[in-house]
Amino acid sequence: MLDKSELLEFEKILALGGFNTYKSAYFDSENYKKLRTAFLDNLPKANIAYPNIKFCSLSKVKQAGKEIVNKHTNNTDIKVPYSFEDELESALIETFGPIPEEDKMDEIIEFVQNNMDLKKVTDIPLFSDLSSNRNGYTAYSPFYKNFQNLKYYEKLPHIIVAIGLKGSSDDFAKGIYVHEMYHALSKRNKGYTNNYLYDETLSIFMERVAALDLDENLVKPAILRRTLNIKDDIINLTHNEFVEESYNSIIEPKKYILSFLLATALFNTYSHSSNKGKRQIDNEINKVLMGYQQLEDVLEKYEITEEKGSSIVKRQIKTMK
Ligand SMILES: [Zn+2]
Repeated sequence: MLDKSELLEFEKILALGGFNTYKSAYFDSENYKKLRTAFLDNLPKANIAYPNIKFCSLSKVKQAGKEIVNKHTNNTDIKVPYSFEDELESALIETFGPIPEEDKMDEIIEFVQNNMDLKKVTDIPLFSDLSSNRNGYTAYSPFYKNFQNLKYYEKLPHIIVAIGLKGSSDDFAKGIYVHEMYHALSKRNKGYTNNYLYDETLSIFMERVAALDLDENLVKPAILRRTLNIKDDIINLTHNEFVEESYNSIIEPKKYILSFLLATALFNTYSHSSNKGKRQIDNEINKVLMGYQQLEDVLEKYEITEEKGSSIVKRQIKTMK
């Protein structure tokens, strides 16, 4: 079990995102055990070279990411809640104090809605930190940490302050930027998926779509790179460890593993589809971003399951040895 303070922080994340579960029977199944064994038998090489990866400026990363997102969202004008740095948080503290009273909830929510900006996701500031390993992040306004009542989180919008890239500015970074923008786009609809463990699915999927758009030869390295990222999660997460359930060592790895499997199966369907079929998948995803349906509806429509993802991953890692 999560300890008390960890549980409260996690419950805030669930309420803010509108998720109502973080469980999956997949991890108790034979399929998961088989996938883990396949990884132990076919460890992909961690030090593999990526021959086709070109370095570029951050403005090129930004331009490419913008074009890819515009293309796949059909240039739909979807705006996301945004606040410049800690402006909104400071204004909230100034008006309501550092620990707001519970009976101020309606006023606070109204204040947030009136004082946040709405921005196109491609116009949100992009930062780059070249020093750390390759990954990205979407920074959300920290103001919510002040509240205790989970009802706030159910009602407050997910406000973004910045998108950041870590690592070198290259072809991979373009995909990571698209990955992060899809987090921002999906989070604007609370409950776009019921399951917190699915929260990386669209982003990991779009990372591969971005690679396919940029250069077909980038797809394999992009898949390999993500596979190496979650290799340790898959190997380390055993059934016994579930007893000591903690956010960082259990729930986060589970989220990446499950989303990785679903994204793999969805991308497999996408990459084998005609141009018309690809556009249809885009449209189904756009309906999720617009709040017309949930991610689960797309998965169901294309018969995307963890089991399907597992079989594809098992095939793929054999070629990565
Ligand atoms: Zn992500």
